[in-house]
Amino acid sequence: MLKIGCHLSSAGGFTAMGKTAVSIGANVFQFFTRNPRGGAAKAIDPADVESYHALAREAGLSTILAHAPYTINCCAAKEDTRRFALETMADDMKRMEYVPGNLYNFHPGSHVGQGMDRGIEMIAEVLNQILTPEQHTTVLLETMAGKGTEVGSRFEELAAILDKVELSDKMGVCLDTCHVYDAGYDIVNDLDGVLEAFDRIIGLDRLRAIHVNDSKNPFSSHKDRHEKIGQGSLGIDAFERILNHPKLRDLPFYLETPNELPGYAAEIEMLKALYR
Ligand code: FE
Ligand code: FE
Ligand code: ZN
Repeated sequence: MLKIGCHLSSAGGFTAMGKTAVSIGANVFQFFTRNPRGGAAKAIDPADVESYHALAREAGLSTILAHAPYTINCCAAKEDTRRFALETMADDMKRMEYVPGNLYNFHPGSHVGQGMDRGIEMIAEVLNQILTPEQHTTVLLETMAGKGTEVGSRFEELAAILDKVELSDKMGVCLDTCHVYDAGYDIVNDLDGVLEAFDRIIGLDRLRAIHVNDSKNPFSSHKDRHEKIGQGSLGIDAFERILNHPKLRDLPFYLETPNELPGYAAEIEMLKALYR
């Protein structure tokens, strides 16, 4: 069965997200661990988590993908900013243990002129401080579009971070279809070739989730503007191939398209219909 869902508001807690997911035909979902601007997260309510687990069992909900606030930067120039990223992620790791066995995705960061190598080092340093042998969460590096000084738009950069992380069995990668296409990986005309490169450089065993987004911009634009599925430069046929690819078809897929809930429900239905 296709594992498909979308990004949801976390305002009402886990049970509310689970109910929303079910109502739009999703069986997985993503949420921000806290306000995207960062700052304090709402305390987790154990009763809510317990009722979520009951609902998840009954409704067949599976992999939750928690997304770190996109404003944190593990390779900022200012030490304060890096410490804020570290503290946010360390706190998120603790909170994720309420829903053990799930995924936590973050944007590697922007090196802001310090250089790609220095950026990669700083990101690995943060990961080496927040990961623990006891944790039950897999932390994912997201593939980026390569706007500005973003780290992680080349598979080599992600591989270099993973190489420097000590507890590397706690790490994986989330592939964002809009981002990789914007970064210059042609998943429309050469999906096999891109996946072969991913396998050679990172290893497909590291690939744990897919962000399924069309792109408002052309191939290799380094822009990162998501479009509704089938209405952007990737096109619906590309998504049919991505969903059904033997190396991808069992992964969880998360929509981050510009939609409200009814739009997401329609896209989920459309993608289910394309899945063989
Ligand atoms: Fe993201
Ligand atoms: Fe994404
Ligand atoms: Zn994006």
